[in-house]
Amino acid sequence: MNEYDGQVAVGILGHEGFQITPDESQADVVLMNTCSVREHAEERVYSRLGMLGKAKRQNPHLIVGLMGCMVEEHRENLFRRFPQLDLMVGTRNIKELPTLIKEVEKNRRQVARIKQDGISIEYTELIQRTSKYHAWLPIMTGCNKVCTFCIVPITRGAEVSMPAREVYREASRLVGEGVRWITLLGQNVNSYMGRSPIPMIGDRKHLSNLTFERADVNSYNGEGVSFPALLEMLCQIEGLERISFTTSHPSDATEELFQVIARQPKISRRFHLPLQSGSDLILKRMKRLHTYIDYRKKIERLRELVPDISVTTDIIAGFSGETEEDYQATYRALEEIRYDGAYIFKYSVRPGTPAGKLPDDVPFTVKEDRNHELLALQKKIMAEKNRSWVGRSTEVFVEGPSPKRPEELIGKTPQEKKAVFRGSKELIGTFQKVTLLDVKDETFLGSLAALCES
Ligand code: SAH
Repeated sequence: MNEYDGQVAVGILGHEGFQITPDESQADVVLMNTCSVREHAEERVYSRLGMLGKAKRQNPHLIVGLMGCMVEEHRENLFRRFPQLDLMVGTRNIKELPTLIKEVEKNRRQVARIKQDGISIEYTELIQRTSKYHAWLPIMTGCNKVCTFCIVPITRGAEVSMPAREVYREASRLVGEGVRWITLLGQNVNSYMGRSPIPMIGDRKHLSNLTFERADVNSYNGEGVSFPALLEMLCQIEGLERISFTTSHPSDATEELFQVIARQPKISRRFHLPLQSGSDLILKRMKRLHTYIDYRKKIERLRELVPDISVTTDIIAGFSGETEEDYQATYRALEEIRYDGAYIFKYSVRPGTPAGKLPDDVPFTVKEDRNHELLALQKKIMAEKNRSWVGRSTEVFVEGPSPKRPEELIGKTPQEKKAVFRGSKELIGTFQKVTLLDVKDETFLGSLAALCES
């Protein structure tokens, strides 16, 4: 979501005549897009603010600004702590950035625009995407779950979904611009519940006329549009070839959703479903609303319906009260479920969250050891799983030249694993059958299947 917000900010500022420079020392305005999920991310922003304070003594005209979740979390308190900070813009006010910068230039006063209500999604044609063929598309923000470790409900507020018709319209617009792969975003994406049905035939004139070919798009005229229903609608957009989504919560990962994934080949074969811990005691203390067995059964069912699905997860090591036994349960969970990938984090207390009141009683070194052990186990499992793909041919979406070997192309398999292979630049933006010949770290080395066969 932060990356999307960043692209919106760059687009809007560019439209107002601001130039984006990669060289910070040349900049008149430095704007940091922040995240509050873990303490470490916040500490990095504090240290950058310290450095920018020094830069400002050399160049008093420099304007320093913050956007993103830290603004929502700390609000005007940050102005007191960092007098070098000139402006703050909340996640729901990105469009006001140019005005705020001009206001600082004129009055040299600290200014903030942080509105708590409404939806923090901006659909704008001005967005500066980094890829011609892939786009992020936020469909909901906020979170109504109560995970005790998590700051998101504080920074992003309650769940709000974009109306289905808006999502459909934006997706169609993106496809009209040449986008072929969309990643739907939401803090709790699979609890999406869109207010309005998609437009009836009479409404077509307001939309790009690219897409309303199939009659059944009109059948979604009920009270609300659920996430699986939204996915099915988007799958009907011609020219949209792949749809991914992140991040899902286990309690909204339903049979209906799995059935849609199985039915619709356009839906990405990577499913990210945070487990957090393998211990029921810890899951309960985290208020995750599922037990380990509930969760495992869901993954088993998904794999039964979609055998080639790649499943990834998030794990927190060393949550409050995590004993050696709890930790071993998480270790066993990784061994049993055998994920294709996992983000594994040391627990860090987030003040203001319910778990902020619980003791942070797992010593740092123990958290670190558990984190390392889990990472090492996961690395081994991932390598084994990746090996099992070697020798197979698969459909790769060609994204561009490989950053490490510019004479080769890089793309993603339906499981969103990276593959590099030789081929003409004309293939960029298309889907190609690639035979996976080897795997190095997390990247497959492949060859265009047509070349292999000839
Ligand atoms: N539902 C959100 C989760 C965001 S946070 C989303 O859609 O992205 C991403 C991950 O960060 C979580 O799944 C969790 O594993 C981790 N995380 C969240 N709060 C944390 C904390 N206080 N300490 C360590 N890791 C945390």
